[in-house]
Amino acid sequence: MQTIAFIGLGHMGAPMAANLIKAGYLLRVFDLVQSAIDGLIAQGASAARSAHDAVDGADVVVTMLPASQHVEGLYLGNEGLLAHIVPGTLVLECSTIAPASARKVHQAAAERKIPMLDAPVSGGTGGAIAGTLTFMVGGDAQVLERAHPVFSAMGRNIFHAGGDGAGQVAKVCNNQLLAVLMIGTAESLALGAANGLDPVVLSEIMRRSSGGNWALEVYNPWPGVMENAPASRGYTGGFMAALMTKDLGLAQETAQVSGNSTPMGSLALALYRLLVKQGHGEQDFSVIQKLFDS
Ligand code: NAD
Repeated sequence: MQTIAFIGLGHMGAPMAANLIKAGYLLRVFDLVQSAIDGLIAQGASAARSAHDAVDGADVVVTMLPASQHVEGLYLGNEGLLAHIVPGTLVLECSTIAPASARKVHQAAAERKIPMLDAPVSGGTGGAIAGTLTFMVGGDAQVLERAHPVFSAMGRNIFHAGGDGAGQVAKVCNNQLLAVLMIGTAESLALGAANGLDPVVLSEIMRRSSGGNWALEVYNPWPGVMENAPASRGYTGGFMAALMTKDLGLAQETAQVSGNSTPMGSLALALYRLLVKQGHGEQDFSVIQKLFDS
């Protein structure tokens, strides 16, 4: 039985780790927040005292952290995990971070003969709980073959996007598009409601018409339209607006490097920054609806 060290047990990491337990892996878990560790122990994981302790003797390491600085801080440098992990151990870095950061970690891992993949995910907390995430993988195809069973225990679609960092490039492209679609959906719902339409009726019309998109299918931003969407539970849980703001910043950084013009992404970033400044950073990103409410 393979042992997996899982580090970062937040909104996404906790249910992903739980699915690995259900698939029969032995889990050693660590997070900076003790209650997050306790939640996984209750489901059969064993607790580690530190990230270094978690990776000791593990066959696979999975990390699910907030942003680039957390990932670089954990893996790199003399005290970093890569200096400690046994060569040959498989490292799957699933956080959404800058492609350049992912490449730095890839390079440091390669120098220590540690096979590593950048493998950000899509599908939200619902997908993490249901084990239906999409993995966008960057790195060596043979390493992906080895990692496939682990990804399959947490997700349904596993795409090889390309070489080192390509998973992260795919992810920032996807999230830029997601933000634009969410903002457009919220704007249209507010317009319809202000002109006398029932948001439930309008949502169904647009869902089945040419404006149909993922937000209308499973993540409606208008409270009460969709029972299981974060909007219907006060925008709690889900994907924090602050993290979407981070991802839109990553898309802008990526566009800067390649010289692309991304006006929609740039406007989306400005709107999400405004939302965060208004105090909504810790709420689900569909809380963008509030910008159009009044
Ligand atoms: P989160 O903030 O809920 O969880 C992050 C966890 O990492 C926290 O529990 C935190 O305590 C822990 N952590 C931070 N630094 C640590 C360290 N050095 N050692 C151990 N633990 C540490 O975030 P999340 O929503 O689970 O998102 C995680 C990543 O997945 C982010 O990069 C995010 O952009 C991405 N993502 C999130 C969603 C979503 O719907 N929430 C969807 C797709 C991708």
